[in-house]
Order: sequence, then C-alpha cells, then structure tokens
Amino acid sequence: MTGWNLEHSYKELPQLFFSHQYPTPVRSPETVILNEPVGLHLGLNIEALRGPDGAAELVGNKLPPGAIPIAQAYAGHQYGHFTMLGDGRAILLGEQITPAGQRFDIQLKGAGKTPYSRRGDGRAALGPMLREYIISEAMYELGIPTTRSLAVVKTGETVWRETALTGAVLVRVAESHLRVGTFQFAAQYGHRADLAALADYALHRHYPRIDGSEDRYRLLLREVIARQAALIARWQAVGFVHGVMNTDNTAISGETIDYGPCAFMDTYDPATVFSSIDHHGRYAYGNQPSIALWNLARFAEALLPLLHNDRQQAVELAQAELSCGADMFRQRWLAAMRAKLGLSNEEPEDEALITQLLAMMQSSGADFTNSFLALTVGQFDGLALAEATGFAEWRERWQLRQERQAGGKAEAERVMLSANPAVIPRNHRVEEALEAACQGDLSVMERLLRVLRTSYGHAPEHANYSEPSEKPCRTFCGT
Ligand code: AMP
Ligand code: MG
Repeated sequence: MTGWNLEHSYKELPQLFFSHQYPTPVRSPETVILNEPVGLHLGLNIEALRGPDGAAELVGNKLPPGAIPIAQAYAGHQYGHFTMLGDGRAILLGEQITPAGQRFDIQLKGAGKTPYSRRGDGRAALGPMLREYIISEAMYELGIPTTRSLAVVKTGETVWRETALTGAVLVRVAESHLRVGTFQFAAQYGHRADLAALADYALHRHYPRIDGSEDRYRLLLREVIARQAALIARWQAVGFVHGVMNTDNTAISGETIDYGPCAFMDTYDPATVFSSIDHHGRYAYGNQPSIALWNLARFAEALLPLLHNDRQQAVELAQAELSCGADMFRQRWLAAMRAKLGLSNEEPEDEALITQLLAMMQSSGADFTNSFLALTVGQFDGLALAEATGFAEWRERWQLRQERQAGGKAEAERVMLSANPAVIPRNHRVEEALEAACQGDLSVMERLLRVLRTSYGHAPEHANYSEPSEKPCRTFCGT
C-alpha cells in the first residue's frame, strides 16, 4: 500500500559484508517530518506513509513488504586511526527501485543495536536527526550531491547522551552506502575475491560506463577520485564544513554522507571547525581538500591487490592516479571559485585574483556567503570586505578581468547568480529551528526549509536569513 518496491543487490555480496538484523521496535512511533518530494520520487504513497502503518514502517516497527533488514560491515580511519566499524545503529531495509528505474538504499538510522554496535545503544536523538534532515535538504537545494532524508520519526523513547533526549529514527535515502571504509574492510578482513566482488559491485552500481573494461579497477579509483574532487570543490564553494571526514564517511558514489557536527562557515577563516571533539582542526574548512585526498589514498591502498599482481607496480599505478587526483582537486576548486567571481573562461592570473580576495576576507573578518553575494549584486554598504586594504584596487582588476571574457559583465552576473547562494542554513537559524522542533513546534523548521528551497532565489523577503550567527557555533558529536 505504501508503494515499496525493494530489491537487495548488496546482499548478493559475500556474507562477510553484512549481518541480518531486525530493527528493534520502539514504544510509540510518531512521524515528525515526511519529505513529500523525496517520497514521490521514490514512488511511495504519501497518504499511506502519513497513516499509522506508515510511521510503523518508517521507524522499523513493521517491515515494509519485501524488506530484508541488514546491517552493513565496514571499517575506517577515524581521526587517522584504523578501526573496525559497521552500521552500529543503522539498518538497511533494501534498495527502492523508483518508477524511473533508479536504485536507492533505504536506511533507518537509529533503529537499534546491531552486531557492530560496540558499546553504543543503537539509537539516535531527535535534534541530530532533524539536523541531518535540514542540512542534507539544504545541500540538495544548493545542487550538491548528497544523501537525502525521507522522514524523521520520534520513537516515544528516551535516549541518554549527556542528558535525556527524545529518541528518533531518520530514514536516509542514498545512491548507496558503499564507503572507502567498506573497501578497507574488504582489504583487511576478506580475501582478494571478496575485494574484487565489492569493486565489481561498486562499478556496476555507480560507474556502469567502465564496468566491463579490462582496466576497470584503476578506472574505478580514477572515477571515485574525480567525484570526490567535484564534491569537495562544491563544499568549499559554499563554505560547508563536514566535520567528520573519516574514511567511513567518504561515499563511493560521491555523495555527501553522514551529517554529524557539520555546519556552514560564517566569517571566512580556513581554520573554521565546528566539531567539539576535533581539537586539532584535522577537519577544518581549509583542510578538507587535503583530507579528502588522504582518504582517497586509503582507498587506493585498499585497491592495491586489484590494481596489479606485482605490489610495486600496483603502488606505482595508484600513485599516478593520486597525483592526477591532486591536480583534479585544484582544477575543480579553481573552476568553482571562478564561477563565484563570474568568470567563465580561464586566465593564468585567476588563481591570484581568488586567493587575494580570500586573504582580504580573512583579514577583514568578512562573512563568506554575504561577501560573494555583495560582489554578485554590487551592494557594498556596511560590508567588512569593502574596508579591507587593497579592496578597491582588487575590485578594479576584477572588473577589467570580467570585461575580457565573452559576454563581459552581463555573462559574469549570470554566472554569479547561479554560483553564489543568497541563503545557506545559518547556524543560529538551524539551532532555533531544532530547539522549537524539540519543544514540539515544527513551524520554525518548516519555514527554514521553505527558505532553503530557494537558495539561489535572491528574494528580498529572505534577507533576514542571511544574517551571520553572532556566537561561534559548536556542534556536538553526541549524535
Ligand atoms: P559516525 O560518527 O556517525 O560516522 O559513526 C561512527 C561509528 O559509530 C559507526 O560505526 C556508527 O554506526 C557507530 N555509532 C554511532 N553512534 C552509535 C550508537 N548510538 N550506537 C551504536 N553505534 C553507533
Ligand atoms: Mg559514519
């Protein structure tokens, strides 16, 4: 009745990659928010999902028809240290085949303990699950590849973190949950055949164009690097700080995954960190490209047995791909930043133009999003950036640069309007929405979600959503 059409291709992998695991039923499920566009895209019946049976399915109390619940095994480097992980609180119901024939993982996050839970309770709290809902939807609206959120359902049970919190389950929709950590798991705990099965599966699911190629494992490495380069450039361009770029949170599909202590930067500062446990700034804004490359080096390492029978030659192949990858990251970043300045062609001096602007933003304590917005609409009143030493001279050079491209300034304006969002999920707006929602008032969150749906809309009535947060934001890993 609810429209599920579930398949289970992941389960065809060798048994070591998963454990059968039912969700643990909860006391009294109650849907807090249901994402209609996502539901419709998946081919689900929204009316049925809104009913009591729908909530029971979305929380894991009642299995949707055709579901075969499993927890996935994976490993990963957390803050640089390798460890065995796995879905400790997430349960995969299966892969929904949409009316258009696409395949999406349907995962319940917070659905109870699994064999990979270690000392965790298998549960999640309402605030962090709504946070993932809001930020992932914002990322989607910004045009950035991301997992999405179908629903958040309260469990009617308490979860204990530092204090007693309302329990909830997030229904996450992803192209897949294959991670760099899944490959690390295979390389560490499986045989070569297990690793090959996983790589072939990833190729078939995410990179079908190179699926049959003889050189397919090397090409898999290359393509995963390319998608990460594209993804991280997009993060940098909107000031998104993921917060926990461990290798288990790096998706093979190239989607942004696992929203924990993430947030958008207000004042431009490469050292920006939001996670309260990232004491050394390992995952700071400015480190994200190099950390992604580090994670990809771990991916390459895991793939070595498939790249060549001779270890030395395999290492050389991997190194060649990684070094092209570093260049790809730089090019993607340059392209994203050029677009923010309205530049649609390339000149050698562009990088200097970009880095000088960023340096002025940093020295003047300018807001990242609002500064680019001001450059887009040509409104500099009261802008910190405009007070920076050298800004007037920089602006002149920038305008001359725009005039040297086909279409001149008009083209620049067009490019900038679609590259510079007017609204991002500001931390104080997200916090205010979560606070109200946890008190039972959903209206603040719903308004925020509506505004975020038109990130590039530049609508005057959204102006008060572009105010930076006043106090520095800390988000907690007690997710
Ligand atoms: P994350 O920080 O969300 O990427 O999670 C890191 C690892 O901890 C994953 O293996 C999670 O499944 C596991 N984990 C996080 N929270 C819990 C929890 N409450 N209970 C069990 N496992 C958890
Ligand atoms: Mg994770």
